[in-house]
Amino acid sequence: LYTFISFTCELGVFDLLLQSQKPMSAVEVAQKLGTSEDGIERLLDVLVAIEIVDVEVVQGTAFYSSTDVANLYLAKTSPKSLHDLIIYNSQTIYPLWNNLVDAVREGKNQNEKTFGLPSEEIFSAIYRSEEEMLKFMGLMNSTWVIDGHDIVTAFDLSSFKTVIDLGGCSGALARELAKEYPSSTVTVLDLPAVVQTAQRHFAQQDDTICFQEGDFFEGEIPPADLYILARIIHDWKEDKNLKLLKKIHTACHPGGGVLIAEALLFENRRGPTMVQMFSLNMLVQTEGKEHPPSHYTRLLTDAGFRDVQVCRTGKSYDAILALK
Ligand code: SAM
Repeated sequence: LYTFISFTCELGVFDLLLQSQKPMSAVEVAQKLGTSEDGIERLLDVLVAIEIVDVEVVQGTAFYSSTDVANLYLAKTSPKSLHDLIIYNSQTIYPLWNNLVDAVREGKNQNEKTFGLPSEEIFSAIYRSEEEMLKFMGLMNSTWVIDGHDIVTAFDLSSFKTVIDLGGCSGALARELAKEYPSSTVTVLDLPAVVQTAQRHFAQQDDTICFQEGDFFEGEIPPADLYILARIIHDWKEDKNLKLLKKIHTACHPGGGVLIAEALLFENRRGPTMVQMFSLNMLVQTEGKEHPPSHYTRLLTDAGFRDVQVCRTGKSYDAILALK
């Protein structure tokens, strides 16, 4: 079903139905999208059956119109659109999952088999072209447009006046933080090409955040009160994560902290199923995995942080705050 929705997104069906001022027949949709009439009619009828598109029959002709849920989540132009996430899953994640058998056998990502790229350079594979970088950034962006508020309000962060989102990508979570805490200065630090793409494609008028090019493994980490690590730890092996957290601890102002946003497994690893599936996804694409809270507590403590607090948000990602 998910793959079917993604093909429908690729064809531009939801965008067309949203833009149309009136319900459209299959013939009109086919003309506008340059498809066959028969093919689009069959596809529209499935969308009606799963209640994503509405239909009204007038004098024997079916007229199709979009539903609120399709307009909100599936049309490209909606501020809450999942369009990029859906396209990314179908074009990048599914080809990787086709090699899940080998990933499980070998215990490593399948970038080499799927895309012909070295398995150790995970972001060279993810950013293998400008188009792929934009798609990945769109995917990252859409999560925080929907669930970012839950992360930035999981704890009271108002005392942290300078905040750096390390690997902050398009800046979506940083913008949520800046909106919630307008007296804080929020900077996104990411790889140079990512920062340049973020500024070209995701910058907003009167943007509330700044961008800085950098490399959190190889370069300096600028001083700040709070560092955000959202979906970073789950990308990497334990030794790299510990090294990164120790670097952050050194750069962090006294009394400052680190906020981690990740999907948390239950302590006994028996769920949530979605997080277990995320962890398999990390296996096929990265060198990391998903963890239960105790893993993060130990990692943070080993890096020198204290007072680790965990907040399960009930949404797709959870939050962990630790202090220096
Ligand atoms: N934090 C963002 C979010 O949750 O939407 C993005 C998470 S994404 C899984 C990992 C991010 O880390 C990407 O934006 C990537 O460009 C960035 N990244 C990877 N290696 C990096 C490095 N060495 N220095 C800085 N950023 C890096």
